[in-house]
Amino acid sequence: MSVRVRFAPSPSGYLHVGGARTALFNYLFARRHGGAFVLRIEDTDLARSNDESVAAILESLRWLGLTWDEGPGVEGPHGPYFQGQRGEYYSRHAAELRARGRAYPCYCTPDELEQRRAAQLARSEAPRYDGRCRALDDAGRARLEAEGRKAALRFAKNEDGGLAWEDGVRGAVSFQNDVLDDFVLLRSDGLPTYNFACVVDDHEMEISHVIRGDDHISNTPRQLLLYRAFGWAAPHFAHVPMILGGDGSRLSKRHGATSVASYAELGYLPEAMVNFLALLGWSPGDNRELFALSELETLFGLDRCGSSPAVFNLEKLEWMNARHLKRLSEDDRVRRVEDFMAARGHDLSGRSPEWRAGLVRAIGDRLKTLKDVEFYGAFALRESLETDPQAWAELCERPGVGPRLAALAGRLASDPDFTLESLERETRGLAAEFGIKAGELMSAARVALTGRRVAPGLFEVMWLLGKDRTLERLRDAASRWQQVQTSRV
Ligand code: GLU
Repeated sequence: MSVRVRFAPSPSGYLHVGGARTALFNYLFARRHGGAFVLRIEDTDLARSNDESVAAILESLRWLGLTWDEGPGVEGPHGPYFQGQRGEYYSRHAAELRARGRAYPCYCTPDELEQRRAAQLARSEAPRYDGRCRALDDAGRARLEAEGRKAALRFAKNEDGGLAWEDGVRGAVSFQNDVLDDFVLLRSDGLPTYNFACVVDDHEMEISHVIRGDDHISNTPRQLLLYRAFGWAAPHFAHVPMILGGDGSRLSKRHGATSVASYAELGYLPEAMVNFLALLGWSPGDNRELFALSELETLFGLDRCGSSPAVFNLEKLEWMNARHLKRLSEDDRVRRVEDFMAARGHDLSGRSPEWRAGLVRAIGDRLKTLKDVEFYGAFALRESLETDPQAWAELCERPGVGPRLAALAGRLASDPDFTLESLERETRGLAAEFGIKAGELMSAARVALTGRRVAPGLFEVMWLLGKDRTLERLRDAASRWQQVQTSRV
């Protein structure tokens, strides 16, 4: 049997990290087994679906590197890949079920259904369709149609008793069939319901394995009943456990960003995101934690997917991101920073390649996300100096700082080289002349030049600022120090 899996998002918003994890598991499963990864857009809910969501989902999947073998933009033998364009399949198969006596038109209006539902609840009964339209004969149907009612199509459920399947993640799952009713297949506007469209498409697209979140587990019995009614072989089902936030409740906006796109905006690498998502529910069986997508493609298996919920740990994602950043070649890291900054409106293309590489090198291991460049590089990226009030106040309080910074400016003004080596030599030389520790002068200069205590190394800071700005900031800090001292007396 050839492996064919699908990711079937409903385009009613961005790609959620839970959806991304489902997409990733399907993608990895397909790659591991030399199968096909199909992307199907489930856009039959016209009120909630929109083109922007489709575009956003595709973009996030591309960003993650989860290329699909069939789907939007990659036509294949089983298209179209938008449910909205597959109406003929649903009509044809609906007619087939009717012909087999396994579906019937239902003329009950939403109001009537709601009233009956309320009455059932009032009697403490589980709400379910009472089957009244199933008993209609031709004359009865004609009468209701003459009233102008439009029919939905319902499944004629015949079986009671248990239903069971061997789940790829959870093992044996059984379900009491009796709780299901004659559920709707086509709404009165002719649009298919999720369960019906899903079964028709999974069959037509020859899907071998359905890997999805376990929030869908209650749909599986209905889908299995449909496979039976059609006489089709059902795919293998595997329901992966949900993702929880740190407090043990289902991951939601309360826990922070939930869209893949926002992690891209926060400066996470797709490599880290993929690695992190893979470990939400799957484990390699040893203690390794860092994986490239290509490695995951050879290692992933449902047998190592756990059935208990996975916890989304942001600190771990951050740690992974720092590790993946470190794994990149310097050129690649610089390029990622440039692209990230460009997307945020900071065009670094006017700077020399050496400068851009120098900035990234200066930030070094402080870089946990690409966004950190904005913080650690702010001193050089922004025209004006933003100061940490506490660090700045302390600088202005410290005895002797003003004259020393002014002297440093004077000394560096006559340094023709302005290289990391010459800057270090001159600064240390001056500290020695003052008879103070080099570190003392350097920490004051660092605050003067970056406005902060936490910043890249001083000589790199000077080099990145360039001579003019370095001298200007040193002199400026010296005169601010002077002002504070003068206002004291
Ligand atoms: N459109 C459904 C969803 O987004 C797909 C569920 C499934 O994979 O069957 O949740």
